[in-house]
Amino acid sequence: MHALKQTLLKKCREMEIPLAGVADVARWEHPPFRPFVPEAFFPQAIYPEARSVVVIGLPVPLPVLESSPSIHYAELYRTVNILLDQYTYRLAVFLTERGHPSIFIPRDGYGSAEVLRDNPVAFFSHRHAALLAGLGTFGVNNTLLTRKFGPRVRFGSLFTTAAFPSDPLVEGDLCTRCMRCVAMCPAGALDEADYPEGLTDKAACAAHNIALGKRHIDPCGICIKVCPVGEDRTVFGRKKASFYTDRERYESYHRAWEHVRSYGGK
Ligand code: SF4
Ligand code: SF4
Repeated sequence: MHALKQTLLKKCREMEIPLAGVADVARWEHPPFRPFVPEAFFPQAIYPEARSVVVIGLPVPLPVLESSPSIHYAELYRTVNILLDQYTYRLAVFLTERGHPSIFIPRDGYGSAEVLRDNPVAFFSHRHAALLAGLGTFGVNNTLLTRKFGPRVRFGSLFTTAAFPSDPLVEGDLCTRCMRCVAMCPAGALDEADYPEGLTDKAACAAHNIALGKRHIDPCGICIKVCPVGEDRTVFGRKKASFYTDRERYESYHRAWEHVRSYGGK
């Protein structure tokens, strides 16, 4: 099984998937903190044959996210979602063809922001799966923070009957508790408590995103934009906390974001 896992990870690299991790389904029964997800949301409850879960992550490039709310970020979000679904679908077929039946799990799992407002959970949590697959740790903004991209990454999963060995969990906490996400959230949906105590006010977040959707420029994403965690901040030259607040100093950037925001939505 170790050899097949290496083959799968090699295939991920060939598909330009920068983050991939594996969790044995038994990890859902012994999570690193509680409350975790209810048993009905465990992979082995959803697909009883599942022995392990493969989670992949695709990055959300900062210079596009910075224009949010905008059509540029809205289109990026949709593109990443489509790729996640395609990649997890293809990887599931790849494993099934090699004698290990596998199924992809859609990246979102809800029909609209209105559905999410009224019932704010999906049938499976990719964030919790990514944690158990050793890809990151939760931040105050309720997202999973990764070393490479901070929270600027979207996850997709597949359930497989292959009993792959798990990857090690990330030790410690990647969240610095800087509270930039709390201060910058336009809906006041975040509080300062650590996950899972400080759960997002999902109704406030959903209402904000529904309003943006009516303008064709959802989702929001401010709480992942401002997070200082992630090597991508260095890659894109965005280390300074004042980047988003000091308009005078970073005039050309602010002008560029305003230009993008002025088109393609209402
Ligand atoms: S997505 Fe926007 S509204 Fe929702 S928690 Fe993050 S910053 Fe707040
Ligand atoms: S912005 Fe700061 S407090 Fe919020 S998740 Fe990132 S590191 Fe944690």
